Amino acid sequence: MSLSDTIAAIATAISPQQGSVGIVRLSGDRAVAIAKTIFKTSKRQKWQSHRLLYGYVRDPKTDCLIDECLLLLMKAPRSFTREDVVELHCHGGIMAVQQVLNLCLEQGARLAEAGEFSLRAFLHGRIDLTQAESIHDLVGAKSPQAAQAAIASLRGKLAQSLKYLRGKCLHILTEIEARIDFEEDLPPLDLGWLQSELEAVAAESQKILATADRGELLRMGLKVAIVGRPNVGKSSLLNAWSRSDRAIVTDLPGTTRDVVDSQLVVGGIPIQVLDTAGIRETEDIVEQIGVARSRQAALSADLVLMVIDGLVGWTERDLEIFELVRDRPVILVVNKMDLVNYELRITNYELRIMNYGLGQLPIVPMAAALNQGLEDLEAKILQVIHQEAIAAADLDVAINQRQKACLLRVVQALANVQIAIADQLPLDFWTIDLRAAIAAIGEITGEEVTESVLDQIFSRFCIGK
Ligand code: GDP
Ligand code: ZN
Repeated sequence: MSLSDTIAAIATAISPQQGSVGIVRLSGDRAVAIAKTIFKTSKRQKWQSHRLLYGYVRDPKTDCLIDECLLLLMKAPRSFTREDVVELHCHGGIMAVQQVLNLCLEQGARLAEAGEFSLRAFLHGRIDLTQAESIHDLVGAKSPQAAQAAIASLRGKLAQSLKYLRGKCLHILTEIEARIDFEEDLPPLDLGWLQSELEAVAAESQKILATADRGELLRMGLKVAIVGRPNVGKSSLLNAWSRSDRAIVTDLPGTTRDVVDSQLVVGGIPIQVLDTAGIRETEDIVEQIGVARSRQAALSADLVLMVIDGLVGWTERDLEIFELVRDRPVILVVNKMDLVNYELRITNYELRIMNYGLGQLPIVPMAAALNQGLEDLEAKILQVIHQEAIAAADLDVAINQRQKACLLRVVQALANVQIAIADQLPLDFWTIDLRAAIAAIGEITGEEVTESVLDQIFSRFCIGK
């Protein structure tokens, strides 16, 4: 892969017969020259930067008309990649964009690799690594809150904090190294200052680290399984929930015997809900498969909603099902409460659950068929996963697993510096760990990063990003 190539790719999602606009993007020294060979416009329109031109794409070999397009020219360095960028806004669907892309390739552009536009933006200093990663997060966001966290990072919020921390570490390093090199000429190191600076950097790193769990939830979402005996109202619950206006729903097909799942958003967290066929022993082969899969789904879930029938009450069968999932966090949904005396029943359940030794199982009374109890259920879910605040929070950045791993190394290295100081080791030892901390911060921002790390990050991007 050569950075001096001019690259081209389709920058928009394309699908047959869909979308009104599809964009082909060119970046590199030859972007304008290539565009000029295929895009024809009237003489009155000038090829000026940051202007739109209107015209036609023609195949230069055959003069065949390919599409009617808008062309956007962004001259270096005022572009995403800081190279000359040309965007051809074609008609949507597949055919127009594909053919325009092919012409660009025939004229000497190379097909961009996954994430190569973003990689160039990074290598040319337009964005740092945290910003590049946030582009990926923004495109993949499954809730408005996830998108907000990505935008905060894209705007450089995380980059700024890290730059500040790195600057502080570099300052401390300079002070120590000066004492190594010119010991006689300088006043002695102010140990109190040094240690409080190190503590401040460590504390700030911990603050950023604390956003990792939220980041994981926002990115990956939560898998919730609904389990329970047949006819307790699992499907009714999923249906009511999916149809509630708080949910963003994409229903995936499945049969009643199978696992059916829906994507919802609860308190900003993307939630994948799995309705499981009744967990029970059965002779029926098809049912057995369904049951096995639902058992699997329940056991792999982050949270289990165990539904029981409020009218029937807690049965031995319920206990058997509960035994299967009790290792997961479980919320007990007591359904069909419209049919029973509410107060009486709930007290009753709490007593019986204590008798069964189920401890402090959170309980939510519901009437799924009547859409009652969904708010309570959602509040209870957020409570169980300790994210009540996430919906209300002014959403800041939320770091990812890679960034978390690096920051943990920062914190460890800073702790090692403190140990070296406490043990009165020679100054050289202090600087070794301090350098390790600086390198780990640099790995997050990309200031000190290996090619293989870059490969890992950008290859997850799709082509055209
Ligand atoms: P599943 O087998 O656990 O998925 O149960 P379903 O959702 O298919 O519901 C079984 C039956 O219970 C259906 O006839 C539902 O209409 C009924 N049902 C579900 N939820 C409620 C509820 O909250 N109140 C009442 N009265 N009936 C319900
Ligand atoms: Zn069902």
